[in-house]
Amino acid sequence: MNAADSTAAAPFASVVYTVDGSDRIVSFNDAFPKFAEENRGSSLGSETIGRSIWDYIADEGTREVYRTLMARVRQQGESISIPFRCDAPELRRVMTMTIKLCDGNAIEFTAATERVEPRQVVHVLRIDAPRNEEFIRMCSMCKRVDAGGEGWQEVEVALPLLGYTELQVWPRISHGVCPVCFDEVFARG
Ligand SMILES: [Zn+2]
Repeated sequence: MNAADSTAAAPFASVVYTVDGSDRIVSFNDAFPKFAEENRGSSLGSETIGRSIWDYIADEGTREVYRTLMARVRQQGESISIPFRCDAPELRRVMTMTIKLCDGNAIEFTAATERVEPRQVVHVLRIDAPRNEEFIRMCSMCKRVDAGGEGWQEVEVALPLLGYTELQVWPRISHGVCPVCFDEVFARG
């Protein structure tokens, strides 16, 4: 991520991708590769077609959220929209994911940007930041960080609470889903 990139704060065009009834990725629009790179830190291209969506969701908490929402959409036929964040080091990006049933049990995902808030660069989120062997836990949905006894907090709040300030080398980030986001998902049943 180049902080000098003047397009960095621009909202994404809506990202649309579709999986078939066996959860294999069958299509995505032009906005998807950049979205995937910022959200998961890995670049996706045409080799993604035909791959299982589960190849791209590593942590069990996030898999459970997606499994639950996709099963509910397939059983009930109604679209579901959930808030999530797709932040970059220098901005918060508030988004909504809409999950919609299509023919043949296919599912279409649409990720729309609601708003973008610039902020001071959060170095721990830089892909090129040097890392040590420690870990912090980040919610893959709301991007809050587990600050131990202080609960799940915005990353700027959590890092000082965890003793990480002004570092040259940063902890690694492991992803999961925080209790608030789990409740959000399961309250929709
Ligand atoms: Zn969360």
